[in-house]
Parts: sequence; C-alpha cells; structure tokens
Amino acid sequence: MNKPVALVTGSSRGIGRAIAIELAKNFRIAVNYYDKIEVDANRAQAQEVLDLIRQAGGDGVILGADVSDPASAAQLIEATIANLDGIDVLVNNAGINKDQLMVRMTDAQWHDVIDTNLSSAFYCSRAALKYMMKKKQGRIINISSVVGMAGNAGQAHYAASKAGLLGFTYSVAKEYGPRGITANAVAPGYIVSDMTNKLPAEVTARMTEQIPLGRLGTPEDIAALVAFLASPAAAYINGQVIRVDGGMSI
Ligand code: NAP
Repeated sequence: MNKPVALVTGSSRGIGRAIAIELAKNFRIAVNYYDKIEVDANRAQAQEVLDLIRQAGGDGVILGADVSDPASAAQLIEATIANLDGIDVLVNNAGINKDQLMVRMTDAQWHDVIDTNLSSAFYCSRAALKYMMKKKQGRIINISSVVGMAGNAGQAHYAASKAGLLGFTYSVAKEYGPRGITANAVAPGYIVSDMTNKLPAEVTARMTEQIPLGRLGTPEDIAALVAFLASPAAAYINGQVIRVDGGMSI
C-alpha cells in the first residue's frame, strides 16, 4: 500500500528541509520551494531534498509555489493531490523575517511578513481541509515561534504573524476536530538556519546564554516533533502549541 502524503511548505532548505526528510520515512512528500520568477536555485535545492529522500528509500515530488499568493497556494494543494493522490498532512512551515524597528517599518515589510507567515497558512489549509474533510482525517501542523508568545524588538510583524498562527491553530482544531482533523502548532526557539545565520555573532552568543541546554536548536530538533505530531501516536493531540526551545522561555 502507498504511504500517506505530506506537504511541507518552504522545504527547499532550513527547518522545512529537515521536516521533509524526517517525514519521508513514513510519508510520500511534496517538497515545496518558493517559485520566484527567474530563480532556479530554489528548484535545484528542492530537487536535492527529493534526491536525498529517494536515496533513503522514500518518494515524493517537488512543487514550486508562492504560498503568500492565494491562487498559487490553492494550486499547490491541487498539484499535491493530483501528483500524489491526496494530502494527509499539511505542514505550514514557509516563513520570512524582515527585521525592522516599527517606526521605520514600511507597509510592504509588514504585509510581506504577514502574508508569507500567516495568510499562507490560511490559504493552504483552506484548500487542504476541503479534501481532508471528505476523507474525515488529516493533520495540520503550523510552524509558529516562541517570538509569537513573547514578542521581540524589531519583529512586530513577525511576532504578530506567529501569534496569529496560534489563534488560527486553535480555531482549526475546534472547527475541524469534529471532522477527524487535528491542528497543532510547534513553536521553535532559536534554531540554526539561514534565518538565524544572518544575525551578528554577539547576538547569537547572548541568546545562547539564555538557553538552559546551552546550545541553539537544530532543524532536526523541530523535525522530530513534527514527525511525532503527524504520527498515529499523536491522534488525540489537538489544538496544542508545543515549544521546542531548549527551555529558553521558562
Ligand atoms: P529559512 O531557512 O529562511 O527557510 C524558509 C523557507 O521558506 C525557505 O525554503 C523559503 O524559500 C521558504 N519560503 C519563503 N517564502 C516563501 C513563499 N512565499 N512561498 C514558498 N516558500 C517560501 O527559515 P527557517 O529558519 O528554516 O524557518 C522555517 C520556519 O520556522 C519559518 O516559518 C520560521 O518563521 C520558523 N522559525 C524559525 C526559527 C529559527 O530560529 N530559524 C525560529 C522560530 C520559528 P526560499 O529558499 O525561496 O527563500
């Protein structure tokens, strides 16, 4: 029998990549890359992820899309269902940060971050839920952030988008729980990725001091929880937000 299907948005690199590779042990994977005009590097990175998955005995497809665009996001879900015969798990992972003090923040920066991090989850979930409802099963896993719970200077838009994902998660859990679909959120702390590699070394050192485990997280630390939430063992976990931050926020 074919393995069930998981779509991971923004899985050409970083945390999404690790999630795709981990989930591929038990799912066929739609590896989504950001389909920007005239950027082939993203496609190549996504192909690399799929190659790794295949080398490990898994399978899937790569699908380009801009999940901040409603039509493109809907098309991504349709393409996943068309190519892999369904969608059992949706991981809303794609995200950006454009750090800026609020008084200097442009409307475009605000909207880019909100659209990519929050609206994308709505667009993708709306389309996926229509299919999941018919099957009376499905898992939606949203990648939020501890910043969505605590706020952060220079990240008003990012924090708002990640807090918004939590309210979104609770609502999906209540609205679609009765249809056999669960929704949960993962709130990573400070994880090694391109997003955090941009930060100055002294900021990284200061952050590390605040983490009881004394190290930054890895994308694999996040992937392990997502794999659990997608597994049969997590069938009764619904509407939860789970922090993976080495104890940083306690
Ligand atoms: P990353 O390395 O910058 O990767 C982000 C991924 O999202 C990339 O694959 C990127 O594609 C994709 N993406 C961006 N905009 C997209 C769009 N419009 N459509 C489709 N894909 C798009 O970031 P990361 O650190 O792995 O972060 C992954 C998620 O975890 C994000 O939601 C982030 O907010 C969250 N998170 C990260 C941390 C951390 O410390 N790193 C902490 C808490 C939460 P491109 O390659 O084209 O850019």
